[in-house]
Amino acid sequence: MQTRLAFEYVLTPQGIVRDQALVVGSDGRIERLEPANGPHDGFLAVPGIPNAHSHAFQRALAGYGEVPGARGGEDSFWSWREAMYRLASRVTPEDMFVIAREAFFDMLRGGFTSVAEFHYLHHLPDGRPGAEMGRAVITAAREVGIRLRLLPVFYQAGGFGKPARDEQQRFVHRSVEDFCGLLSELKDVELGLAPHSLRAVPPEVLGTLVDAARKVIGEQAPIHIHISEQRREVEECQAAYGATPIEVLARHVELNARWNLVHATHASPAECARVREADASVVLCPITEAYLGDGLFAADEFVSQGGRIAVGSDSNCRIDAVEELRLLEYGQRLRTERRARFATREGLGTPLWQQACRGGGAALGHSSGALAPGHYADVVAFHRGAAPLRGHDADSFMDALVIGGSRADISDVYVGGQRRMREGVCHGAEESARAFGRAMLRLNSV
Ligand SMILES: [Zn+2]
Repeated sequence: MQTRLAFEYVLTPQGIVRDQALVVGSDGRIERLEPANGPHDGFLAVPGIPNAHSHAFQRALAGYGEVPGARGGEDSFWSWREAMYRLASRVTPEDMFVIAREAFFDMLRGGFTSVAEFHYLHHLPDGRPGAEMGRAVITAAREVGIRLRLLPVFYQAGGFGKPARDEQQRFVHRSVEDFCGLLSELKDVELGLAPHSLRAVPPEVLGTLVDAARKVIGEQAPIHIHISEQRREVEECQAAYGATPIEVLARHVELNARWNLVHATHASPAECARVREADASVVLCPITEAYLGDGLFAADEFVSQGGRIAVGSDSNCRIDAVEELRLLEYGQRLRTERRARFATREGLGTPLWQQACRGGGAALGHSSGALAPGHYADVVAFHRGAAPLRGHDADSFMDALVIGGSRADISDVYVGGQRRMREGVCHGAEESARAFGRAMLRLNSV
């Protein structure tokens, strides 16, 4: 059965077009666009942004850990990580479902219509292995209606040349074979692969891991890895292997368009060139990178030289696709002391939004991120009366949104042509919020 969704304005790959309907097939993909003079289902429709990096359970950590660290007030990524481990040790499959469901509702409300869930909290709190935690994420995504690419994480070590610590045991698989067993248990959903990082996966294991995983998840499935997030990580990598992280990675695997390097904050210009040549993507998480004090990737240079970027909400401390794009742009302004870093002749908002959609579609391995035939009808519609849009026309709507807008300006959200949010309300979100509140009180009570 076809669905027809008509909007006053639609952001297409060719720019904003007036009075258009998306004709959506029963598979949730757009068959065609056609003129539509009304009645309209909404005002301004844009492609939902694929959320290319999330750890859903970390939603429960937002707002905690904002006090000086134990070591004389010097708080850092590393002290935050200890707080994250404390939370991770307590989350049950029921908690995981409740937290992930709330995070996924927040993603829909925040303009993300699909998510790559970088899932490393595998074993039960008592250490028993199994797929229950992953199943909880899958059930949450289905209930919310967000499109999911589950990225089970392979994790082995506690740092360069160090064994995993007690608090990391829930993440750890002893062997690639054990890990592939988990992949097989979860393979009724779309999977990718996520070697956690070079800190957690010795590079000499990477080749075996990728070859073995591909047999379960398929040749085309995306691969994600955290890399070069922290200066200390780069220094430790150099000390261990005599090379920087992306150089080490490229020595052990064939980097290609399936690879997505998360953060790459401290990548050198030579490493960036290597990523571009391989047609790999960089996944940036501007809000979380600011939250954790990671630093700034030279994203404007990377993109102007043809690099592909995606964005992710990562720690989920604040979930808002519009804010992610604004902070992405503003970070580069602060870094370079210049303005309009991602702007083209089309302005700023349209190319930035389209970059995030294109990169996100590649990172998730989905035909999404464009309102065009063949792509999923994953749509975010903005209010006609949204304050940032007042006084603007089609030429500047996207600039106005990226500079002055937020998730509060979103009215409706569709995934595969099905409405998942109507006038700011998602079905089931109230119950989700209540259950999340109860789980937060319990998990953070000790
Ligand atoms: Zn991450």
